[in-house]
Amino acid sequence: MEHAGEILRYSLDCVHCGLCLSSCPTYRATGCEQSSPRGRIYLFRNASEGRLALEAVAEEAGLCLGCRACETACPSGVQFGRMLELVRADVAAAGLRRDLPARLERFMLRSVVARPRRLRALFDALRAFQGVRLDRLLRRLLPERFEELFSLLPPVPPRRQRRALPERISAKGSRRGTVGLFTGCVMSEFYADVNASTARVLTRNGFDVVVPQGQGCCGALHAHAGDETFAGRLGRANAGVFGDVAAVIVNSAGCGAELRELPNRIGAEGDDLAGRIRDVCEFLDEVGLREPLGRLDARVCYDDPCHLVHGQRVSEAPRRLLQQIPGLTLLEHAEASACCGAAGTYNLTKPRMSGVVRDRKLDALEAAAPDVIATGNPGCLIQLRAGVLSRGLPARVVHPVTLLEEAGADPDP
Ligand code: SF4
Ligand code: SF4
Repeated sequence: MEHAGEILRYSLDCVHCGLCLSSCPTYRATGCEQSSPRGRIYLFRNASEGRLALEAVAEEAGLCLGCRACETACPSGVQFGRMLELVRADVAAAGLRRDLPARLERFMLRSVVARPRRLRALFDALRAFQGVRLDRLLRRLLPERFEELFSLLPPVPPRRQRRALPERISAKGSRRGTVGLFTGCVMSEFYADVNASTARVLTRNGFDVVVPQGQGCCGALHAHAGDETFAGRLGRANAGVFGDVAAVIVNSAGCGAELRELPNRIGAEGDDLAGRIRDVCEFLDEVGLREPLGRLDARVCYDDPCHLVHGQRVSEAPRRLLQQIPGLTLLEHAEASACCGAAGTYNLTKPRMSGVVRDRKLDALEAAAPDVIATGNPGCLIQLRAGVLSRGLPARVVHPVTLLEEAGADPDP
């Protein structure tokens, strides 16, 4: 095991108190100690000390959502997320994930997701499929795993809506500063409208927005799948493209968490960018909204993305911003900070457990009966949208920035 020493060091922070157990989605679903944070740490530690074969921990490392709820609950500061990444990297390096789905996942992540042109071509094809309802036919013909994929996918917007944003967008009114915008891979295809809304909300609040064309995928999905090397390569490419802007704004919680962790991945080279990363809601809350907000009558449940609440410790800022919208009622629900089951590609690779985790969240949302569910991560948007549709709930699922833009007084693009 290449990372045995590091894994052992992290595992020694655990004092086995069990305070994390009730916050762990897989423990809540199974009741099994080995599927809890404490149980996994025990397995990881034994593997790092050579008392357990790596094969014996690979399954639990794969079943873990990587949601990091255990980190928030842990009074000893155990860095579970980092430990998990290292274990997964060792599992991948040992060739323990060589089945067809794992190979396909690696191919897609390295050769499509990380290549913007190929990713765009894939989304073009998907849009064409959706246009002639071929996706519905494929859902019936292909194996269960693909059925899950097609049931999750939202409609792909037309290409003109997926165009890259201009490299520089000027502030409206008096200028308060310049920020960079990280646009992401999945976000640029499924949720390009959210990127455009983010830029507009920032400019209306007095910020010039720089969108470097040289930026690319953050590497979060690759790291999640144990491909540390490739994630590092992507991180390195992003580290040098944002110039001297004061802050780099991210509207995808998964990307934000990954970029903040760049120093873990590429060392000191990642310090500068990591230190300037701000979630869009965190940033707007920090600087204060300047644009007056119009009325938006809606009952809204804000749902915390794991990589924002646990990965970046941002939870109050989006709520504070939404509460500033006149007419908007913010509803809390019991499972707001629990994982939705998306977890990178987990909803594709572990559809059963993902469904169990998602159902718990949907039960809570159904009980709260909102008109709108707001969440700041593309994976969560996709997962919750699919869940809401499957239950026939009448709620819209949107990014918080979409609501800020809808409430904005200035109707200009
Ligand atoms: S990361 Fe999430 S699923 Fe994994 S052990 Fe921690 S709480 Fe459980
Ligand atoms: S809360 Fe922290 S110290 Fe306690 S068992 Fe969980 S990981 Fe270990």
